[in-house]
Amino acid sequence: MLRGQMMDRPLMIADLLRHAALNHGKQEIVSRLPDTGELHRYGWADCHARSQRLANALTGPLKIKPGDRVTTIAWNTHRHMELYYAVSGVGAVIHTANPRLDPMQIVWIINHAKSKAVFYDVTFAPLVDAIAKHCKTVKNWVAMTGEATKPDIKTKQSVYETLLSNAGEHYDWPEFDENSAAGLCYTSGTTGEPKGALYSHRSTVLHAMMSATADAVGVGADGIIMPVVPMFHVNAWGVPYAAALAGSKLVMPGAQLDGKSIQELVEGEKVNLVLGVPTVWLGLLQYLRESGKRIDTVHKVLMGGSAMPESLLRAYQDEYGVEMQQGWGMTEMSPLGTVGKLLPKHEDLSGDEKVKIKLKQGRLLFGVDMRAVDDDGNVLPRDGQSAGHIHVRGPWIISSYYRGAGPESFTDDGWFRTGDVGHIDEDGYMTITDRSKDVIKSGGEWISSIDLENAAMGHPDVAMAAAFGHPHPKWQERPLLVVQPKPNTNPTADSIREYLAGQVPKWWLPDGIEFIDEMPLGATGKILKTKLREIYKDYKFPDADYEGGAMPTKG
Ligand code: ADP
Repeated sequence: MLRGQMMDRPLMIADLLRHAALNHGKQEIVSRLPDTGELHRYGWADCHARSQRLANALTGPLKIKPGDRVTTIAWNTHRHMELYYAVSGVGAVIHTANPRLDPMQIVWIINHAKSKAVFYDVTFAPLVDAIAKHCKTVKNWVAMTGEATKPDIKTKQSVYETLLSNAGEHYDWPEFDENSAAGLCYTSGTTGEPKGALYSHRSTVLHAMMSATADAVGVGADGIIMPVVPMFHVNAWGVPYAAALAGSKLVMPGAQLDGKSIQELVEGEKVNLVLGVPTVWLGLLQYLRESGKRIDTVHKVLMGGSAMPESLLRAYQDEYGVEMQQGWGMTEMSPLGTVGKLLPKHEDLSGDEKVKIKLKQGRLLFGVDMRAVDDDGNVLPRDGQSAGHIHVRGPWIISSYYRGAGPESFTDDGWFRTGDVGHIDEDGYMTITDRSKDVIKSGGEWISSIDLENAAMGHPDVAMAAAFGHPHPKWQERPLLVVQPKPNTNPTADSIREYLAGQVPKWWLPDGIEFIDEMPLGATGKILKTKLREIYKDYKFPDADYEGGAMPTKG
């Protein structure tokens, strides 16, 4: 081989910010602040300057060393952006905890990550009070606010703005191996125990470059982008990084994710691209319809995390003229894998035919290699109908879980098993048809079916229990629990729900509990959930509102 003669410069996350500061310094980052509710605005240059101060605070008083983990429990704001850049910039690892998890799960992941410091938004003060004493490795708790608005908590804490004002201005971002860890995000796996995806500088920068391209998220200097998807959820799908390389304006919604707050922010800041899970768009749609308000500046909504409901796609497209695109990905994939954009050849198709294509999970992006395989490991043809287990590989896909969890997720020949079942067609569109991993996804957040089943099995009258995700008009999926009672017993749904209430988070409680005489079992004695899904396919949850289609009426 003849070696190329190009510079071997490392791909560093801090360079994204340095680029934005130098070339798009006045381009704004606008944040709705969780502590005061006010709109805060500054430019990329200010973000860079404050991230440098934060880097000094991290390496000085907070004693953060390269490789250390620093946890955030925080909304999308400029302060969280500064943490993204400063923590990884000093060579440490930003671990974004999902505050919607059960507090003991948060304790579990902070302990598993062996975090040295936790930065939290003031709205999470009660949570911090509940978990702090269990987090043994954490040396510093930092409230992301100023002195005037600092919450009163039981644990000794520092105040973010004070740390920054006391820190030196100048900080030179060090250069180091681009394969060093930069970010850590936990996903609940099939066993109910969270597993960590450990991103590197290289994977993060490459993902940002791909994500900015036209057929992916499509991020440019003319972008006014609002990631409604939280920064604790797979790095807000990489937007904080892609926006820096493109010099886009960012609009951060903070803690207020209701329809009214989002509409106001979209209109006020002239947002043209929004990203989030379907539940958020349901809430916004309800508000738009009730208020008669519009979101006319928005050109595109990228919806991911769960399948895009057809009624939602049609409502935004037909009533509000918004281009709806679906993305598919995973925490383990940084997360982008496919984005559902139409091709030039689809231009003359009827509206209904176009909708059909948009309901597929999307087209494969460069950098994501994908195959569908059958149960025997044979690679299936890309014919748009042969469905199999979806495997992926690529430079922003995990090669192993943090601290060696879940080795069974990787094949011997170097692919990652997604746990999704689907097919691929000759244009590279992937369609998910089922899920082999045993989890339920409600409003973009995971519920472990195994944990639910184990809890239900503890009930004295339950012989067998199976939980699975069933379509729900508001939450995309909610748990349906099917129970085979022990002989000569007659448990009621209420008694089972009551029994579960003390053992699993409240929002995990099944919306439906059904009884079956004999559980369908496979050859190895495992419950056949495919069969159960078939039996209950027309089941309707008693408390769900099906009348309004995509329109939620409650919650
Ligand atoms: P995220 O919610 O950001 O996509 P997670 O790691 O929490 O990341 O969840 C990934 C899983 O969510 C996928 O493996 C798949 O089961 C489901 N998922 C994500 N996007 C879609 C989509 N567009 N359609 C259907 N399921 C999806």
